[in-house]
Amino acid sequence: MTAPRTFFLDRDGTLNISPAPGRYVRSPDELTLLPGVAAAIRTLNRTGRRVVVVTNQRGVARGLMSLDDLAAVHERLTESLRAQGAFLDAVYACTHHEFACRCRKPQPGLLQRAMADFPDIAPGDAVMIGDTESDVGAGRAAGTRTVLLAEPGRASAADLVAADLRAAVDVLLGDVSPGGTPSRGLPPGQVRSGDVLPTSRDVLPKGERR
Ligand SMILES: [Mg+2]
Ligand SMILES: [Zn+2]
Repeated sequence: MTAPRTFFLDRDGTLNISPAPGRYVRSPDELTLLPGVAAAIRTLNRTGRRVVVVTNQRGVARGLMSLDDLAAVHERLTESLRAQGAFLDAVYACTHHEFACRCRKPQPGLLQRAMADFPDIAPGDAVMIGDTESDVGAGRAAGTRTVLLAEPGRASAADLVAADLRAAVDVLLGDVSPGGTPSRGLPPGQVRSGDVLPTSRDVLPKGERR
């Protein structure tokens, strides 16, 4: 499978430390990037990938922050990334109440708006990465591949579960297999897929040697 060309990224909990449920990043000083995020985005930039942030920010509809506040937070986000050589191609935010629009994830509206603005984005050549099933739902509804950022082994509708953005990017760009082992061939003498592994009858009792 080829690596995606467009990376849709959730914001809170994916790029920056997530505020507590029901709370919002309301000012630039409340924004803290997660470790490895700038490096991961820099890798995407340098390999010619498009990076688009898609974020639910209902705090605006709830009157807890203004559109100017949100713009200031996103200015800080882009500044912090730029200081580390990383760039975002676009940021799309849903600032609406629940059930009041077509863009609040898990609906696909933000991704679809990006695809309208960047007509060369093909859903099958894109991936949505986020830390909640609502991100996964939005990606699936838009027809992209999906990655949930969570502890390994978490059950999810996503195509892949990865610990953080850095790990997701490494897997998607083919640097490591999902198991964390090198994906480009095996050293000579190692078992390849298709080889027959010993059955239990071939296993010698403990302590004996062939
Ligand atoms: Mg999130
Ligand atoms: Zn919306």
